[in-house]
Amino acid sequence: MNLHEYQGREILNSFSIETPEGLLASSPEEAVKHAKIIFEKTRKKSLVIKAQILAGGRGKSGGIKIAKNLDEVYQKSKELLGKYLITSQTSGKGKLVKKVLISEDVYIFEKKSIVEYYFSILLDRNLERNIIIYSKEGGINIEEKSNIIYTEQIDPILGLQLFQTRKIGFNLGLSKDLLSKFNKFLKILYKAYQYYDSLLLEINPLIINKENKIIPVDIKMVLDDNALFRHKKYTNYNENEDINDLEKKAIKYDLNFIKLDGNVGCMVNGAGLAMATMDMIKLCGGKPANFLDIGGSADRERVKNAFSIILNDKSVKTILINIFGGIVRCDTVAKGVVDSYSKRNIKIPIIVRLQGTNEKNAKEILDNSKLPIYYTDSLKEAANKIREILLSL
Ligand code: GDP
Ligand code: MN
Repeated sequence: MNLHEYQGREILNSFSIETPEGLLASSPEEAVKHAKIIFEKTRKKSLVIKAQILAGGRGKSGGIKIAKNLDEVYQKSKELLGKYLITSQTSGKGKLVKKVLISEDVYIFEKKSIVEYYFSILLDRNLERNIIIYSKEGGINIEEKSNIIYTEQIDPILGLQLFQTRKIGFNLGLSKDLLSKFNKFLKILYKAYQYYDSLLLEINPLIINKENKIIPVDIKMVLDDNALFRHKKYTNYNENEDINDLEKKAIKYDLNFIKLDGNVGCMVNGAGLAMATMDMIKLCGGKPANFLDIGGSADRERVKNAFSIILNDKSVKTILINIFGGIVRCDTVAKGVVDSYSKRNIKIPIIVRLQGTNEKNAKEILDNSKLPIYYTDSLKEAANKIREILLSL
């Protein structure tokens, strides 16, 4: 699960790491209201308006704006809110800005030119441990700079050690009087990363102001989906993922559903069979509209919910059910399919390859249902039938 910048701040704050003063707004009016508070609190002559989207590269694409007064706050947040922001990290369509963060300008009043550090903790699956990647030259051009990038591996049993945090501080060229503060900062940061079962905690840029304050300017966090049940606060897919209504429904029913851009709906059990099925559909000239994996232990209700999701997908012109009945019995699948199809006034042809436990009963149930069903025992034949149906449309 990708978290927004404001959520990353919230998490660090809960570990008593200070972040710039900031308030979240979803309308220009609210932005102005919050800006008054930020101006008053910081006593600074400007603030920044930061588009909250789940993608970086905002700085270069107009997603970060400086405002010097309330009129500018109103104008500039109006320019961002409700618009699609296209950055180097979004699709061509961009991402809808639903909220902006009205945030303290942490670059102002800085006489010495500000150094923007890059700092991230992430899981390295090959090394089977967390690593820290950091650099003296962070900021918006990190990808293009030919800078020195350091890596530090963290032993899963020993955790982050003092000699390591010191080494990092030293490599970043921090002054002596800053080192102990920095050690403490990293220790807590790593704690926050671990506590939230994160895959990534990236701070870019991280700056140190003239009062030697360590300031995480931009925070990106990715939490491990498998551990989300431990972090209920961050399981709101509406807020954190760009998923469509069908996918939301699938999450609700705990089904694996992936929306694709073709017109053949696919219901399968097992990821391997799903891949083989889609390959076969493509090979025969079709294009999957989705795939839905009902898993290994589906009951009638689950199949019904699963099938309804496919039937509700407007791009679906025909459906392939390719299920191997092992623990899931074929008759259970047939009953679920009939339950969800029969009350609707539709005529979407279904190609069925149901093999395994209770397949005869399944066939009987489907026959009696009078649905537009074609049986086959071979996947190849199923795919060919699909092509035939698509050509006849
Ligand atoms: P990103 O482009 O999506 O990674 O967004 P960041 O939050 O990292 O901001 C990008 C750039 O905007 C930074 O590198 C800064 O140059 C600038 N920026 C961010 N915060 C501030 C701020 O408080 N004051 C000023 N003046 N500039 C900022
Ligand atoms: Mn950034």
